[in-house]
Amino acid sequence: MSDRRKFIKTAAFGTMGLATVYACQQKKEEKKDVVKKELNKPLIISTWKHGLPAAEKAWETLNNGGGGIDAVEAGVMISEADPNERSVGYGGLPDREGKVTLDACIMNSNSDCGSVSFLQGIKHPISVARKVMEETPHVMLSGKGALNFALSKGFKEENLLTEKSKKDWEKWLEKSKYKPVINIENHDTIGMLLLDENGDLFGACTTSGAAWKLHGRVGDSPIIGAGLFLDNEVGAAAATGLGEAVIRTAGSAMVVEQMRLGKSPAEACKEIVERIYKKHRNHKDMEYLQVGFIAVNKNGEYGGYSLRSGFDFAVHDNKGSRMENAGFKMEWN
Ligand code: ASP
Repeated sequence: MSDRRKFIKTAAFGTMGLATVYACQQKKEEKKDVVKKELNKPLIISTWKHGLPAAEKAWETLNNGGGGIDAVEAGVMISEADPNERSVGYGGLPDREGKVTLDACIMNSNSDCGSVSFLQGIKHPISVARKVMEETPHVMLSGKGALNFALSKGFKEENLLTEKSKKDWEKWLEKSKYKPVINIENHDTIGMLLLDENGDLFGACTTSGAAWKLHGRVGDSPIIGAGLFLDNEVGAAAATGLGEAVIRTAGSAMVVEQMRLGKSPAEACKEIVERIYKKHRNHKDMEYLQVGFIAVNKNGEYGGYSLRSGFDFAVHDNKGSRMENAGFKMEWN
């Protein structure tokens, strides 16, 4: 081949090569854009209206350089400290003996988790749950043992029964009837799920549980797999509502399993609510049964579903924060 022909051939290949590289690069850019559009990260969702300030706090924590676990902890602490939030932490409605008893759990993307149940006198059970996760060989501490552990870690014991909650309890004692009022007395637990910038999942759940419960009753909220569950390969879910029904059906774990099988978060929540309904429609609890789930998957899709209307959840993502109504099976007025 003459030098001139060789030059033309090489130049042609060189140009083609460059064109191919350019085209590939462009494709990659486009793909990146598509991926960016598809993946809504970071993303925080959180049960009920008090989930809104909580999610804002979690978002702020991420923005200030905190990790996912710092964010969910700081987020739900807002509800725990709020005396007007009658189902979580300080100001929560007591059991039938007038004692505020708390359940909480926390979980990270490595499936590490920590939990406290039937804890009294500690304003931030979620922080004790985190210590159980990070500083003990266990997952769950309960009652006096959980309290002693908290005190050993520097938490202060304080009275969590506000005057308002005390008055409500005294009023309840007049009739002493356990029949939780749907959407008011038996569920306002805060469950928070977070998908961070890296696509890792975190969750936290904290509650004072069902009002007027028997002393010693533990609900679903501190139980990994019931009140909260995540699998970093799939997604995360949290529950609110009548804890007994959620425990009977391993609610949050089942929602995650439905997502593993290919359902969207909203479909997965619906599937398990339907299952709970089927198992309870002739049950004595049906009269006051409400359950709701929220869920998020690895693609940044999220959703919620409840048995009865009235359940909403907070969403915080790059578009800002807002409340969204969950789908539901039946009307409640
Ligand atoms: N699930 C909680 C419980 O049964 C109640 C709630 O959601 O507020 O303890």
